[in-house]
Amino acid sequence: MSYAAVNPFNGQKIRDFDNVTDQQLEVILDQAQGFYEASQKQDVEERTEFLNELADEFEKNSDKYARILSTNMGKLLAEARQEVAKTVSFARYYAKNGVDLMQPKPYNDLPNGQAQVEISGTGIILAVEPWNFPYAQVMRVLAPNFILGNPVILKHASIVPEAALAFQEACDNADLPLGAFTNIFANYDQIDHIIEDPRVQGVALTGSEGAGRKIAASAGQNLTKSTMELGGTDVFIVLDDVDINEAAKDAAKARLTNAGQVCTAAKRYIVSSKIYPDFLDALKEEFAKYQVGDPLDENTTLAPLSSKDAQQQLQAQVEKVIAGGSEVLYGDLTPIEGDGAGFSPLILSGMEQDNPMYEEELFGPVAQIYQAHCDDEIVKIANNSRHGLGGAIYTKDIERDKKIASRIETGQVAINSILSSQAEVPFGGVKDSGYGRELSDWGIYEFANVKPVMY
Ligand code: NAP
Repeated sequence: MSYAAVNPFNGQKIRDFDNVTDQQLEVILDQAQGFYEASQKQDVEERTEFLNELADEFEKNSDKYARILSTNMGKLLAEARQEVAKTVSFARYYAKNGVDLMQPKPYNDLPNGQAQVEISGTGIILAVEPWNFPYAQVMRVLAPNFILGNPVILKHASIVPEAALAFQEACDNADLPLGAFTNIFANYDQIDHIIEDPRVQGVALTGSEGAGRKIAASAGQNLTKSTMELGGTDVFIVLDDVDINEAAKDAAKARLTNAGQVCTAAKRYIVSSKIYPDFLDALKEEFAKYQVGDPLDENTTLAPLSSKDAQQQLQAQVEKVIAGGSEVLYGDLTPIEGDGAGFSPLILSGMEQDNPMYEEELFGPVAQIYQAHCDDEIVKIANNSRHGLGGAIYTKDIERDKKIASRIETGQVAINSILSSQAEVPFGGVKDSGYGRELSDWGIYEFANVKPVMY
């Protein structure tokens, strides 16, 4: 596994990075354990102050941190600034609520006596993270675990090494104690070795199903707790009473933000048959507004994919989808030539279940569209997936909306807005989209010792 930063807009290599050595890794584990032992004797208030300083560091230097996302994985500069702001919001949430979340909770309704449930840390947490939100994903793990006093060791995606180092620099600039957060450029064998270490008490992975199955198996083998934030084939449902142009605008944005590389992106549109032709026309008009360009140019509307490999993989997947029976309703299948990783947006007709690609996540600006004749059919199409991450439903009839939302088998659903993670609400998936929750109060308890003391 080699770590290299390559600008996906032009294919130019920025830098290679050396992997951590086994000896360095031992020192890092020792330092992390040192932080854990010290933190369990410390007041949580001190740690909330550090988290606020970390949030300040990102906030004050937003542009510096944002540009690294644009050059490492191609994110549009404006979207990169939004990611920095989201990263700040995650840190601030746990800084603000950390003390309350750590308060012992009384349980008084026992047949004999009462109990006080104490919340404390458990030990080192390994975070294995993806390139699509290089700061926000890391903060989702670091902030709650830092409050618990759990040290975090980060193995970031090998294509965003500068973003990984920038996160480390932010933590260093905020004076986080030694061992509280450490980025490592490790190979897969070293990751397995870390999971085997008895001081490591948790593994948080965000990424593809393949990586999830591998890391969850290693964690299971070692009886180590894990959380899995994996992919999805989320639906974007449009009912017959919507403002078609407004819904189409959001639908395009929900698919094309971050060049379509969002776990909860709108991958399958399900549209009421009464408005299907008009909605499709409006959607095509919206898609036409997105043109691939330099992510550092403020006028660019569509980012390149994260790497040349991602571009080639998506092209091959789309060709299989079409060979399996889907039609191209909008867009140009011809690959964009050159060293960059641009990909032209496509709208495909929804895959039938016998399409060999039916269950695959298409991670880029490629949408599928289905039409449905009633709410039952909408729910059937939505749930006919082994994924269950997110979804969105658009209608003026909020009661009908809520009923459909309750019937959809996913971890979260947004009504009349694009689904987006927020610090205050739990985030995670069901089915093959993973298990466990990040963010909110639920996120902090994943790797906590929740210990009743009975008396
Ligand atoms: P990925 O290829 O699975 O990589 C994710 C992380 O796992 C990377 O750090 C990768 O390192 C590491 N990894 C992969 N195989 C490994 C192994 N055998 N041992 C140790 N580490 C391993 O995923 P990605 O392409 O970066 O991210 C895109 C995926 O993430 C999509 O499926 C997306 O839906 C999902 N995602 C989910 C959420 C969520 O919250 N549910 C959020 C964001 C993204 P290397 O880079 O070195 O291979």
